[in-house]
Amino acid sequence: MTGLGHFLDGLRCSVCRTINTLWLDTTRALVECRECGQFAHVTTDDGRTA
Ligand SMILES: [Zn+2]
Repeated sequence: MTGLGHFLDGLRCSVCRTINTLWLDTTRALVECRECGQFAHVTTDDGRTA
């Protein structure tokens, strides 16, 4: 997939805690989780806000 956005490798969904499911929608400047479908905050493994 190219053009509309890209996956954020190594980042974890703050809602469902699944890693590597976050999708950066560059057209809307939002991060969506493909696992739980939420527009999620991005966190790193140690819990800091990315
Ligand atoms: Zn999620």
